[in-house]
Amino acid sequence: MNLILLGAPGAGKGTQAEVISETLLIPQISTGNMLREAVANGTEYGVKAKAAMDSGALVSDDIVIGILKERIAQDDCKDGFILDGFPRSVPQAEALDEMGVKIDKVLEIFVPDKTIQARVSGRRVCESCGATYHIEYKPSKQDGICDKCGGKTIIRKDDMLETVLKRLATYHETTEPLKSYYENQGKLETVVGQEEVAETTALTLKAVGAK
Ligand code: ADP
Ligand code: ZN
Repeated sequence: MNLILLGAPGAGKGTQAEVISETLLIPQISTGNMLREAVANGTEYGVKAKAAMDSGALVSDDIVIGILKERIAQDDCKDGFILDGFPRSVPQAEALDEMGVKIDKVLEIFVPDKTIQARVSGRRVCESCGATYHIEYKPSKQDGICDKCGGKTIIRKDDMLETVLKRLATYHETTEPLKSYYENQGKLETVVGQEEVAETTALTLKAVGAK
């Protein structure tokens, strides 16, 4: 099954993508993670992507489409995959269609902006190993220190409130039109994000026919 997960930044699509990946045994392809890796490794793509990412803007379609194309050509994608964070614009969706990639279902994880603002401002990430925490929902045992490696937990630059507002605006302007794009193809299904992650997960698994 080839799936797309759609949702505003901080709506929890990454978490849901992970669960689907583990349940259906198909790879989760997160363009955000791939881009952050490229930035960390200082690759040509990474150098070009960094400024856009830090400011909350989208990375150019050319770069992201290039990265995605390489990834889904790999062997582990032949029995299906979950796209987490791609497409994020109509041109990216058109690129997928032009590549001849058949999409079975597009799952939108819907969470209101106000809720997202509250959630994202509590996110923390370990600067050493990348483990993620939330001061309210998933705190580290010791404030500011990673449970896994003892590293320092910090606010991701693009999780600062100002940047989050910018990312939400970008989402509404550039990514949200994908809802009607896929609705017109009869592929869109919306899951309303619940307060408890487990409840959202149950709805997600049902939507993909896994439970
Ligand atoms: P979140 O889901 O929290 O918004 P991601 O980890 O998916 O964040 O992405 C982080 C950043 O990477 C985005 O704000 C954007 O700059 C860049 N990015 C990721 N995927 C894409 C994409 N498909 N097109 C353009 N930029 C992207
Ligand atoms: Zn760590």
